[in-house]
Amino acid sequence: MKPIELLLRRNILSLKPYSSARDEYSGEAAVFLDANENPFNQPYNRYPDPYQRKLKEKISKLKGVDVDSVFLGNGSDEPIDLLFRVFCEPGVDNVVSIDPTYGMYQVAADINNIAVKRVLLTDDYQLDVEKLLAAVDDNTKMIFLCSPNNPTGNLFNVDAVEKLLNGFDGIVVLDEAYIDFAPGKSFLPRLNSFPNLVVLQTFSKAWGMAGLRLGMAFADRVIIKVLSKVKYPYNLNILTQLKALELLDNNEQMNDWVRLLLDERKKLESELEKLNFIVKVYPSDSNFILAKTNNPKEVYNFLVKHKIIIRDRSSVALCEGCLRFTVGSPVENEKLINALKGYK
Ligand SMILES: *Cc1c(COP(=O)(O)O)cnc(C)c1O
Repeated sequence: MKPIELLLRRNILSLKPYSSARDEYSGEAAVFLDANENPFNQPYNRYPDPYQRKLKEKISKLKGVDVDSVFLGNGSDEPIDLLFRVFCEPGVDNVVSIDPTYGMYQVAADINNIAVKRVLLTDDYQLDVEKLLAAVDDNTKMIFLCSPNNPTGNLFNVDAVEKLLNGFDGIVVLDEAYIDFAPGKSFLPRLNSFPNLVVLQTFSKAWGMAGLRLGMAFADRVIIKVLSKVKYPYNLNILTQLKALELLDNNEQMNDWVRLLLDERKKLESELEKLNFIVKVYPSDSNFILAKTNNPKEVYNFLVKHKIIIRDRSSVALCEGCLRFTVGSPVENEKLINALKGYK
């Protein structure tokens, strides 16, 4: 990996972060008159902990990662945007990503005026390592990967990801939003082996907390420090921090949901395969299924009439004719299948 000083934007390297009242004094006290807060309306009157100490402590234990390697954001969207802002000089630097993949990388890049060089996945939706590395130039700061990938649903081969981590001297961002549904292992336990690895995870999927907006980035403490310096001081509000602390005690619940959703996915896959207008059901390592049909728009509109909304991905690269079905509750999935059985 290049020295971090060469990867970071110069203005970020020299940035002096905002110092809040709670930065200057963060211990226990009887009377807090330092932040111009209203003394009434507890506990919402107080600014939230800008360091999210309690929540980070809990998440670091849960994930088996050093607390200094944890960044928490307002969804994964926040670390995605921050990564562009700290590493990429607008109009100068670029990133390499895959196609198809999650749309937020391109949007965050566009907002920051950073070019994205997209490299098509192979026909079986795997990484084309050689082409990805060939797309890298002197101004390439990051490679964005997503495994299991959205919308294709599959995990990438571990050795291909390793080859990119070893073969690229910039930052490799690995979005593991769906890892809790996957049979393969997360790269988190190997964080210490790869100083250029940033793993993204989220509480929006398996944990069922999309509404709380809580995303995570895990990386070497040097990278985490920079992200923390650039974020809004109070990026996680008090309600999110309190509720997440409470919900994270319920690991068992999450595991039960995942087991149930994986059962449901299997059922849904076999039901979809029985439908004659479904040409192909792609194998999934996540909580959604990609399926190909000859008339995606028609099937989509048919389901809308039945008040069922899926995602039309047919205009996405390598996904011609494809629809994406999120695995819902048993009742929801039954409604979907019953509706689809009435098509044509
Ligand atoms: C859903 C999803 C996320 C989650 O984003 P949040 O901002 O944490 O809700 C991240 N990455 C991918 C690929 C996703 O599909």
